[in-house]
Amino acid sequence: MSARILLVEDDRGLGEGLVESLTQHGHEVVWAHTGQAALERAGAEELDLVLLDLGLPDMDGVRVCRALRALSADTVVVILTARGAEMDVVVGLDAGADDYLTKPVRREELLARVRAHLRRGRPGPPGEPVRLGDLELDLRERRVVVAGHELVMRAKEFDLLERLARDPGAALSRRTLMADVWDDHWAGSTKTLDVHVAALRRRLSGFPAGIRLPRIRTLRGHGYRLEPPTA
Ligand code: CA
Repeated sequence: MSARILLVEDDRGLGEGLVESLTQHGHEVVWAHTGQAALERAGAEELDLVLLDLGLPDMDGVRVCRALRALSADTVVVILTARGAEMDVVVGLDAGADDYLTKPVRREELLARVRAHLRRGRPGPPGEPVRLGDLELDLRERRVVVAGHELVMRAKEFDLLERLARDPGAALSRRTLMADVWDDHWAGSTKTLDVHVAALRRRLSGFPAGIRLPRIRTLRGHGYRLEPPTA
């Protein structure tokens, strides 16, 4: 499965290595060295995935991330961050990134992660939309509709909502959610899960009182549960 990938990285040595690994595996890579160049490319062409360094010479990578997100809700954005830079990760995910990779980027991990994201980004098998109260989840078209209005959602938010909605009422552990939605590459922090849950909660809030929506309940020391709306 090959993809069109935008690499945003000003470090030549690192960038060359990444381009080489990705093209050897059949991906088409566009390399931008600055935030400005990245946004120009992203505005001009269809991309499946963006690998985004946060430390760019001309603008803050977080700003680039927000702007990319504004251009396209469903392009997967993976930020590249220095090992242990936890704040980078939280800020990046809040700005709309779907995932992150820590530098130095390991070739196998990069390729596995790209594969996993691409698999998820493709339309699933046809089927009836999942309905929970006034929430409708169309898995084939990857659309979320609330009372007739479509909610714009990032790729990973959709994946997480889909996973929760596949088993409404079930207590799902963090480990299960991380493995199913982000693959099993996650050894330590599950901060990304919390950030995505918070984003989903925001998206599912603010509707008029008559609209019946499921709620994501936090299960302390365990994980999360999607509670269907009461009749
Ligand atoms: Ca940099």
